[in-house]
Amino acid sequence: MTIPALALHQVERAYRQAGEPLVILRGVDFELFPGQSVALIAPSGTGKSTLLHVAGLLEKPDAGEVFVAGHPTSRLPDPERTGLRRSEIGFVYQFHHLLPEFSALENIVLPQMIGGLSRREAGRRAGELLDYMGLSQRGSHRPPELSGGEQQRVAIARAVANSPSVLLADEPTGNLDPRTADNVFDVLNALVRATGLAALVATHNLDLASRMSRRVTLRDGLITELE
Ligand code: ADP
Ligand code: MG
Repeated sequence: MTIPALALHQVERAYRQAGEPLVILRGVDFELFPGQSVALIAPSGTGKSTLLHVAGLLEKPDAGEVFVAGHPTSRLPDPERTGLRRSEIGFVYQFHHLLPEFSALENIVLPQMIGGLSRREAGRRAGELLDYMGLSQRGSHRPPELSGGEQQRVAIARAVANSPSVLLADEPTGNLDPRTADNVFDVLNALVRATGLAALVATHNLDLASRMSRRVTLRDGLITELE
């Protein structure tokens, strides 16, 4: 039996707004398996980012359990939680959030060095990832010198630099023109297929979503499969 790369069990999350509880997740059950890419398609304000933050151990659920690579996470002390997040989870956001004063290569090297690799090993892997992303000529460029699509490809390379089990992407092509979005998306899908990574991608782009393994939505605080 394959262990899900990510599993949410009865996950609840509410915020308080003007003193009133605002329930976003009401008991979400969800499993994401290695090599799967899942599109999360839901209107703004329904809780996609909240779900990704909880799944990615950036926010704690109020109740329920998040399993990452089979590990329950709710009782982990913060340092272990952070360690698990760094080694098993990669994030990509709508805006690249690359460090502007570092080169593309260095942006991919840094998380690996934080993870304990030597500069030389980290540099080798960063070079391979840049090649894979079609950016072998861009390693020495700093993010402001790159196009939007190139920036997002570097951000994806950075997110997977430590070979995580799970890639979480929050509207990663939301800021790109359709052709560039297509290209960034193809790279992401190819990476999932080649590495057995599991990806959960919030998107409003139904064309891109149709090319993923599964499509889900958030409705009334629960995840349901589409189609
Ligand atoms: P989406 O990503 O689908 O647009 P979000 O997860 O960002 O949705 O937000 C879901 C709802 O939760 C929204 O109504 C938003 O205003 C609210 N919300 C998000 N973060 C917070 C917070 N830190 N405090 C209070 N309300 C929040
Ligand atoms: Mg959002």
